[in-house]
Amino acid sequence: MASYDYDLFVIGAGSGGVRAARISAGYGARVAVAEEFRVGGTCVIRGCVPKKLLVYASRFAGEFADAAGFGWTVGESTFNWSALRDAKEKEITRLEGAYGGNLDRSGVEILRTRAEVTGPNSVRLSDGRVVTAERILIATGARPFLPVLPGIELAITSNEIFDLPDLPERVIVVGGGYIAVEFASLLAGLGARTTLLYRGEQILRGFDSDLRDKLAVALSRRGVEICTHADVTAIARDADGLSVTLGDGAILQADAVLYATGRIPNTAGLGLDTAGVALDATGAVKVNAASQTNVPSIYAVGDVTNRAQLTPVAIREGHAFADTVFGKRDSLADHSMIPTAVFTTPELGTVGLTEAEALAAFKAVDVYKTEFRPMRNILAGRDERTFMKVLVDAASDRVLGVHILGEGAGEMIQLVGIPLTMGATKRDFDRTMAVHPTAAEELVTLRTPSERHRS
Ligand code: FAD
Ligand code: NDP
Repeated sequence: MASYDYDLFVIGAGSGGVRAARISAGYGARVAVAEEFRVGGTCVIRGCVPKKLLVYASRFAGEFADAAGFGWTVGESTFNWSALRDAKEKEITRLEGAYGGNLDRSGVEILRTRAEVTGPNSVRLSDGRVVTAERILIATGARPFLPVLPGIELAITSNEIFDLPDLPERVIVVGGGYIAVEFASLLAGLGARTTLLYRGEQILRGFDSDLRDKLAVALSRRGVEICTHADVTAIARDADGLSVTLGDGAILQADAVLYATGRIPNTAGLGLDTAGVALDATGAVKVNAASQTNVPSIYAVGDVTNRAQLTPVAIREGHAFADTVFGKRDSLADHSMIPTAVFTTPELGTVGLTEAEALAAFKAVDVYKTEFRPMRNILAGRDERTFMKVLVDAASDRVLGVHILGEGAGEMIQLVGIPLTMGATKRDFDRTMAVHPTAAEELVTLRTPSERHRS
C-alpha cells in the first residue's frame, strides 16, 4: 500500500476547507491545510463578517432619525470611517486567530503557503516542496469577476472596499446581485452618495419578483439611486475623480467605482489539469453529490464548485465530505432548500420557490401576501413597510416558499427554513401559536389567499 505524507491535504482555509480539515482530523485523519492569504477565508476576512459589521454601522443613521418619534433628542452625529475600519480589522484578526487555534487544537497542520496540485495524490507548495496525500480537497473559493472594458483597473471590488483609507463621498456600484445591493445599501447608510448601475430590468435576478420590486423602492427611498438598463462602457480618471460612461453616452462622476459582477471559481493555475480534474465552462470544479471529482482521490467543496456560493453551504459540504470519507458514515449536503438573506436595509430573507418557479412547477398555487407598516415605524414616522409572501401547493397544502422584506428578515427566514425543510403544510403554519406583538406572527396568521393560481 502506498504511504502518503498525509491522509488529507486541504487547499484553502476558508469556510469549507476549515470545516473539512477539522472534522476529518477529529476522525483520526492526518490532515494539513494550505492557506495563501489569511485563515478564515473570504467569509471571515473580506466577506460575510466584515460586511455585516458595516451593515450594523450603516443602520445607526436611521436609528438616530427614528429616535425622535420616541421622545429622544439625539445630538449631532458624525461618522468616522477609519474608526470602524480599525475596529473591523481587530475583530477579523481575532476570528482569524480563533480559526487557526481551532485547527491547531484539532491536530491539523497549517501551512501558510500557496499550494498547487501536481497529480492525483501530490501537491507542490510555494517553496517547491512536494507533499503527498491519500486524498486532496480543493477548497480554494472564488474571486471577483471583472468584465473587460477601458479603465476597469480603476474600479475596486469587495476585496478592496473594506480597507479604503476614507469613505468615498460619491460611489458608483456596478451589478445587481447580493454584493452590489448590500454595499449600495450600507454605503448610502454610512453617508456616501450612492448610485447603483444594473444592466438588466430589475435588481436581484432570481429572487421573487415582489421582493425585487419592493426592495428597489425601499432602497431608493433610503437614498440609493438605482439605474437599470445601465451598461458601463468605460471608466476614466479626470480632475473630478472618476468618470463612468454608459452605453447611452451619459457620464457619471464618482470618487470610487465598486464592481460586484459575480465571483469566479479559483481554479486558474491550480494544476488541476495535470491531475486530469474536469472543470465546467465557468472554470468550476465538477463534482458529484459526494463532492468527488472525476479523479477519485480529489474532492472539492465550496465556492470553487459553484453550487451555491454561500458560507453555510461550503461548511455543510466540507462537513459531509469528512463524515463520508473519514467518518465512514454516508452524508450528503442537501442543496434542495437553502434559506438566504440579503443584508440590505430593509433586509430580505427568502427560502424555497419563488412565485414564478412555483407556478411553473405546480398546477394549483395559493399565494398569501401581507404588507404592513411595522409598529416601530409608526412612532418613528417612517413610511417603510414589511412584506411577506407564503406560497402553497393547493393540492398537498405544502408550503413551497416564503419571502420576507423588512427588519429581521434574515433572522426570520433562518427559522422558517426549519419547517420548510421538514415539509410543513400551511395547516402547520396555521396551528402554530403566534408570538405577539412581533412582525413574524403575520406568518402564522395569514388566513385568505391573495391569489389562487390554477392551470
Ligand atoms: P473561501 O472562504 O473563499 O476560502 C478559500 C480560501 O482558499 C481563501 O482563504 C484563499 O486565500 C485560499 N486559497 C485559494 N487558492 C489557494 C491556493 N492555491 N493555495 C492556498 N490557499 C488558497 N455568504 C453567506 O452565506 N452570507 C453572507 O452574508 C455572505 N456575504 C459575503 C460578502 C462578500 C463581500 C463576499 C465576497 C462573499 C460573501 N458570502 C456570503 C459568500 C461566502 O463568503 C463564500 O460563499 C464562502 O466564503 C465560501 O467558502 P469557501 O471555503 O468555498 O471559500
Ligand atoms: P451575483 O451573482 O449575486 O450578482 C452578480 C451581478 O453582476 C448580477 O446582477 C449580474 O447581472 C451582474 N453582472 C454579471 N456580469 C456582468 C457584466 N459583465 N456587466 C455588468 N453586470 C454584470 O454576484 P455577487 O458578486 O453579488 O456575489 C457573489 C456571490 O457571493 C453571490 O451570488 C452570493 O452567492 C454570495 N454572497 C452572498 C451574500 C449573502 O448571503 N448575503 C452576500 C454577498 C455575496 P445579471 O443578473 O443580469 O446576470
